[in-house]
Amino acid sequence: MTTEAVDWRRATTPPCPRCARPAALTARYPHRWRNAAGAWVEGWREALLCGHCDGQEATARPLLTLLASEQGVGAPELTRLGPLVTAWLAAVGDRTPEWGRLAAEAARWRAGDL
Ligand SMILES: [Zn+2]
Repeated sequence: MTTEAVDWRRATTPPCPRCARPAALTARYPHRWRNAAGAWVEGWREALLCGHCDGQEATARPLLTLLASEQGVGAPELTRLGPLVTAWLAAVGDRTPEWGRLAAEAARWRAGDL
């Protein structure tokens, strides 16, 4: 995955689905999979970075530190941000769902809590 292929957002992020705190960043990136007929399907995935929930993730820590910088993210930091986002996505992008957590979130959604 190249840095240019990632659409990341910082200003309009949804709340973290795990803790409901504001997300630090969301990233939308290309993803492809084979459908039931065996054909490739091109699509997108989205990952959410949460300062509270993802702080222990090795690739998330330097990204969270940069985003939390009191100086903000200016032009010099942007050159560091792209590779940090790419490294973080490489670590978290292919995770499969935790089925128990997914079922719990689905139940919260059906109950109107999300
Ligand atoms: Zn969280």
